[in-house]
Amino acid sequence: MRAAVEKICSRFDDDYWRARDGEGEFPDAFHRALAADGWLGVCIPQDYGGSGLGIGEAAVMMETIAASGAGFSGASAVHMNIFGLNPVVVYGSGEQKRRMLPPVAAGKEKACFAVTEPNAGLETAKLETRAERRGDRYVINGAKIWISTAQVADKMLILTRTTPIERARKPTAGLTLFYTALDRRRVEVREIDKMGRKAVDSNQLFIDELEVPEQDRIGEEGRGFDYILDGMNPERILIAAEAVGLGRAALTRAAAYAKERVVFGRPIGQNQAIQHPLAECWMELEAAELMMRKAAWEYDQGIPCGASANAAKYLAAEAGFKACQTAVMTHGGYGYAKEYHVERYLRESMIPRIAPVTPQLILCFIAEKVLGLPKSY
Ligand SMILES: Cc1cc2nc3c(=O)[nH]c(=O)nc-3n(C[C@H](O)[C@H](O)[C@H](O)COP(=O)(O)OP(=O)(O)OC[C@H]3O[C@@H](n4cnc5c(N)ncnc54)[C@H](O)[C@@H]3O)c2cc1C
Repeated sequence: MRAAVEKICSRFDDDYWRARDGEGEFPDAFHRALAADGWLGVCIPQDYGGSGLGIGEAAVMMETIAASGAGFSGASAVHMNIFGLNPVVVYGSGEQKRRMLPPVAAGKEKACFAVTEPNAGLETAKLETRAERRGDRYVINGAKIWISTAQVADKMLILTRTTPIERARKPTAGLTLFYTALDRRRVEVREIDKMGRKAVDSNQLFIDELEVPEQDRIGEEGRGFDYILDGMNPERILIAAEAVGLGRAALTRAAAYAKERVVFGRPIGQNQAIQHPLAECWMELEAAELMMRKAAWEYDQGIPCGASANAAKYLAAEAGFKACQTAVMTHGGYGYAKEYHVERYLRESMIPRIAPVTPQLILCFIAEKVLGLPKSY
């Protein structure tokens, strides 16, 4: 798998990604190349046009993409395809799977994932976007933020509130999930000018009277949060794989530069002050990868993997960030120049630290669920 994905990625070199980053243009050619060889359906069941492989395999693919130098510009361009539609795979009806999955596996439709809201942040239960039932349809009103790929997406998986929080059994009940057309007449998509990964847009969505047929509701009304929860661990595992890949791309460049750059009459890489941080990054990336593989194995075996998946996401994001920062420092002033690519990696390495969950919330989770400490939030 690694060799096959590497071969596709080798057609998209660092200059391709630097240009996409500069222009803020979606990497369509890259997306099409992966779709053409069937990679976008890696986790989608074979009956619906995919390969039916596990998260372990998907993680190999995503790590390889990021490590090729595509970083998060490449990984995020396809991330949603890989596991985003898991709620449809698990909870969708036969009719929904036949209708929704094959176009995504074939790369004919792009999907975005609309959960985060400006007034709720990490407290998903507080989301305010309402879906109101009117006859055989729902009408959605509200706002979302940070929704990646909404500029290019045809469809969105959107979490809404159908029962007001005060009337719900518990705060996370009363939320309902839809997979539906992103109708731009009813959804204004406003791009956020952001720090990195300009090739893959992130947006504010303003939703005004969006009509959604009942057939686009995934599973039962009010159980959307449970369905989303199911996909959270695999998503953390894939983000971890992408962060490890990005860190490795940075480390490869740093080591190559340290061998070549001669100052004070010898390669800078002959100095231990240059070598040791790079060696440390290598070890931390390897360790993060092992934790990620443990989590992926547990998930694919049906073993609870919450602690490993969260730990993998945390460790990989921090190791990836450190490798990117070390790569910039190894390059000295040149590290700050776009031509050497590592500054782009450093900007992108912030994304897996923040999304889809922050390091603080992972620490809270481990403290509570693994160590049995009182819930702090
Ligand atoms: C590039 C990018 C792409 C994204 N793509 C998507 C997407 O496609 N779809 C989507 O739905 N979302 C997306 N997100 C949103 C992302 O998942 C959120 O930004 C993230 O979950 C954090 O939420 P927030 O920004 O509202 O932070 P907040 O909830 O406002 O938190 C702010 C800070 O306070 C800390 N904090 C909050 N509460 C506590 C507490 N109790 N204890 C300790 N610390 C606390 C947090 O850890 C964080 O550091 C994306 C974000 C980025 C940056």
